[in-house]
Amino acid sequence: MTNTGANRPGAAPIVAAVRREFPADPEAFRAAITPGTVEAVAEVDVTGLELPAGVHVQRLTIRHVVHGGPESSVIVWGDRTYRACPRCNEPVAVEVVDCPAFKNPNDGQVWSTSHQHGCGGWLEVAWGELGGDASEAEIMAMVVEVAEWRAERIGEEKVRIRKRLLRELAEAMDAPDLDDALTGSEVQPGVFMADNGHPAAWDYHPTDEDATLIVDPDDVAKWRKEQAAGHAD
Ligand SMILES: [Zn+2]
Repeated sequence: MTNTGANRPGAAPIVAAVRREFPADPEAFRAAITPGTVEAVAEVDVTGLELPAGVHVQRLTIRHVVHGGPESSVIVWGDRTYRACPRCNEPVAVEVVDCPAFKNPNDGQVWSTSHQHGCGGWLEVAWGELGGDASEAEIMAMVVEVAEWRAERIGEEKVRIRKRLLRELAEAMDAPDLDDALTGSEVQPGVFMADNGHPAAWDYHPTDEDATLIVDPDDVAKWRKEQAAGHAD
């Protein structure tokens, strides 16, 4: 994720925000343009945003230890795109409930929280930071960026799993005794004998626990043809 940095509010967006708040009342509009109210009016209510599945937004607000004023940043983050720790392979939660960053009151900077797994491996979380005055459009642009990044990564992971399943099933089909080569069952991922009497290989979807990926001998035949033609690895 790119970090867009924390820009302090400029006069124009604040005035625009206050005008939206008090469109027909010039008195209230003028009264609202004070340093105390400007920040509150200009801030987007991030809890009211409509977000795609797997993406979260939170506003972090601190009281700066040097200038004493409130200062906020908006953090956009995505759920994980994998279900197991890349290092120890133990299952991990796909959903990242807690904000993966915090704002340091000493310098106002936003830092990543620790995403270290018990084994010492790092559980990657994609997140981005926007200034506290970010508009709804700016926030939603980053939401879309994170959602697209996730979709891409999940797609890549599905391709990787499918290739592994094709290799596993091909290996089992080539074994002298297929029964000995079965590595899974209907409830255990791996190669198993399907109801139709043919072997198949399956594993879980990278993020959706209710979905599975499965390949059968037809898929292996197609894959082998592609390999022979040099189109697959
Ligand atoms: Zn681990």
